Amino acid sequence: MTAVAGAAAGAAYIVAALLFILSLAGLSKHETSRRGVTYGIVGMAIALIATVWVTAAGAWGDGPAMFGLVLLVAAVLVGGAIGLWRARIVEMTGMPELIALLHSFVGLAAVLVGWNGALYDTGLEGALADIHHAEVFIGVFIGGVTFTGSIVAFLKLSARISSRPLMLPGKNALNVGALVAFLALTVWYVITPELWLLVAVTALALALGWHLVASIGGGDMPVVVSMLNSYSGWAAAAAGFLLNNDLLIVTGALVGSSGAYLSYIMCKAMNRSFLSVIAGGFGIEAPRASDEEHGEHREIDAEAAADLLAGASRVVITPGYGMAVAQAQHGVADLVQKLRERGVDVRFGIHPVAGRLPGHMNVLLAEAKVPYDIVLEMDEINDDLSSVDVVLVIGANDTVNPAAAEDPTSPIAGMPVLRVWEAGNVIVFKRSMASGYAGVQNPLFYRENAQMLFGDAKEKVDEILFQLSRV
Ligand code: NDP
Repeated sequence: MTAVAGAAAGAAYIVAALLFILSLAGLSKHETSRRGVTYGIVGMAIALIATVWVTAAGAWGDGPAMFGLVLLVAAVLVGGAIGLWRARIVEMTGMPELIALLHSFVGLAAVLVGWNGALYDTGLEGALADIHHAEVFIGVFIGGVTFTGSIVAFLKLSARISSRPLMLPGKNALNVGALVAFLALTVWYVITPELWLLVAVTALALALGWHLVASIGGGDMPVVVSMLNSYSGWAAAAAGFLLNNDLLIVTGALVGSSGAYLSYIMCKAMNRSFLSVIAGGFGIEAPRASDEEHGEHREIDAEAAADLLAGASRVVITPGYGMAVAQAQHGVADLVQKLRERGVDVRFGIHPVAGRLPGHMNVLLAEAKVPYDIVLEMDEINDDLSSVDVVLVIGANDTVNPAAAEDPTSPIAGMPVLRVWEAGNVIVFKRSMASGYAGVQNPLFYRENAQMLFGDAKEKVDEILFQLSRV
């Protein structure tokens, strides 16, 4: 029975792994993303059922294993209930911290699996035992770094601790020293697998994870979350080797490599060095906003904005974090529809790190049923912006800051941005002159062609809609 169950589970794992790969492929495009999510759900359901089934088959009639099955079912029920509840109540703006917290669980699980692998007598000998010891050590190390790193990321993102980078003297030397110590301890452990070495590597990994993320400033947290995503994948893969579970290895590798690639894309989008992100030493926080004003700003009201839009033939909307806060996406979708009915060419320009997590804006616009084909990436629209009549900057700030392109002394210098200031007119929807996430002043607000529309983005969009129906 157990052999049959094992073979069936192995086949189910292959199907699940294929579905996960199809899921990732589907998620890479708007048009296929729903299908991608469905593949992922089906793959995960198959993997879960196969795991429970193989455990049940192995447990039948055996006391301790039966206890394992009961624990497994209880854990799935409790974990599933908590997960469902959190996913239902989480605000889109709170997603990064929730994701960071979830990564910490993967890290902790990898540490526990590693410890279990060390304490459990496998009966392996020779080279196989050496490989097993190396797997234990690597799993515990990656898991430990992921665990504390993710907790610090969660605490910073949810503003429970300051987002300022911790600047210990010689922080790079500390990180490199920790890595060298890890390598030395691994060799030692493979030669003489003593328990104190495992305790030492666990403590080292927990401290390193804490230090890596604590050294990083708030503005760089998106990349950190995506790097931790990647680490959590490698931690899961390491656990997969220890548990002899092919699906965990494949899934971990998928998460690890896709997280690393996403981090690379984000580093490019934020003009950061990928290698220094991995090393954790890149967090020089942007200085908080200098209050130096750049001149006079001009204001516009909803009625004048509606007039401007009614007379425009090409409009681009660049949404940002404020659109998510205001939950203005449905109003924005209605506005787009109204303008298109009037024959105005309306498109969206999406910055890769607009909002608070990659793809944040795309998710909101999809939820509001904005047609995918008018939602363009920054690189696809930037060269067109100079021929646009009106750009509506809805709750975006850092991602449209000309200082990034024009002021080499700016803390965000070199970060690619949407060049909205090249358009004929720019209307900036926000509630005040406050700076954005990076805490940097935005000279856009003082440009000749820019006007501020102060107030909550949703209310202002609704007012424009009302005014448009009268124009
Ligand atoms: P910003 O955070 O730079 O600015 C958002 C603006 O929205 C603020 O200036 C705020 O101004 C305005 N705002 C807030 N609430 C409302 C509201 N209810 N109505 C109208 N306006 C509102 O946003 P961007 O999207 O341009 O940039 C994203 C920033 O976040 C970048 O610095 C990025 O690095 C960082 N980040 C990105 C992550 C990602 O993965 N996408 C993750 C974590 C951080 P006011 O208060 O005056 O209204």
